[in-house]
Amino acid sequence: MNYSNVDLHCHSVVSDGTLTPEALALRAKSNGVDLWSLTDHDEIGGQSRAITAAQSVGLRYLTGTEISVSFAGKTVHIVGLGFDHTQPSMVEGLLATRGGRELRARDMSAQLERVGIRGAYEGALKYVGNPELISRTHFARFLVETGVCSDTSEVFRKYLTDGKPGFVEHKWASLGDAVRWITQAKGIAVIAHPARYSFSPNEEYALITEFIAHGGKAIEVVTGSHTDAEASRYAEVAREFNLLASRGSDFHSPEESRLDLGSLPALPSDLTPVWSVLDAHIH
Ligand code: AMP
Ligand code: MN
Ligand code: MN
Ligand code: MN
Repeated sequence: MNYSNVDLHCHSVVSDGTLTPEALALRAKSNGVDLWSLTDHDEIGGQSRAITAAQSVGLRYLTGTEISVSFAGKTVHIVGLGFDHTQPSMVEGLLATRGGRELRARDMSAQLERVGIRGAYEGALKYVGNPELISRTHFARFLVETGVCSDTSEVFRKYLTDGKPGFVEHKWASLGDAVRWITQAKGIAVIAHPARYSFSPNEEYALITEFIAHGGKAIEVVTGSHTDAEASRYAEVAREFNLLASRGSDFHSPEESRLDLGSLPALPSDLTPVWSVLDAHIH
C-alpha cells in the first residue's frame, strides 16, 4: 500500500499535547494525512482511543509511543511504532518510566520557588490531562500563563533546560530496555529527532551503533524538529547505517507547535520508509 502523507509523531492530552486523541484523528484526516500514529511520551493509554478514532474518520493507524531514555548524560527519545499495545513488558516498562515524574515535578517546583516562582507544581497540574504524566511542557504553560515568560520556548531556554533554575536531572529508561520493550511487542524502534541532542560526533556514533546493536531499525529524518539541512544530514545517516526512515510532525498544540499534522516535506525518495515494513501492523 502506498501512502502520500504519513505522520508518525504527535502528542495528545494523554501526555503533553493539548488535543484529545479524537480531535487529533480529525485534524490529521482534514489535513490530508493518510497514515497516522499517536506517540505520547512514556504512555500508551491513548492507543485504543486513537485506533477507534482513526477508524471512525477513515484514517489508517500505527500504534505509537515516545520513550524517554538516558544516554551519555542526556535525554534521548525513542519512538516505537506498530507494536502490540497490550504486551505486558511494554505496559510495565512504560509504567516504570513514568513513575519518577511526580517526584521530579515536585523537585522542579521547589527549585523554581528558590528563584521566586511560587506554586509551580499546582500551576502545572492545571494543564495536566493524565496525572501520571506531568512534564516540563505543563510547567512551561504555567510560566507563560503567569507572565514569567512570553512563550514556552523562552521558558525552556531560561528555566527548564540543563543548568537552568528549574531543571532537575532525571534517570529515564536505558536505551537497551526501551528498544527491547518495543521489539518484543513486535514493533519497530526509531531514534526520534536526532538533531536535537547536540551530541559530539563520537557520542552520536555510539548512540546509533548501540541502538542498532539492541535491535533498533529506524531514524526520524523529516520531523518538525529538523531544519531542511538537518533532514538532509540524517537522510545521509539513514543511508550510511542502513536505517529505515520515519516522518512525523511532533505536533503538540495548535497554539504552540510550529508545524501542523501532515504538513511536512516528503522523505527523500531513495530511503526506505519505516511504514513499508509495517503493513501487517496497520489498523
Ligand atoms: P519532559 O518529558 O518532561 O522532559 O518534557 C519534554 C518535552 O518538553 C518535549 O517533549 C517537548 O514537548 C518539550 N520541550 C523540550 N524542549 C523544548 C523547547 N526548547 N521548547 C518547547 N518545548 C520543549
Ligand atoms: Mn512533548
Ligand atoms: Mn521528543
Ligand atoms: Mn514528541
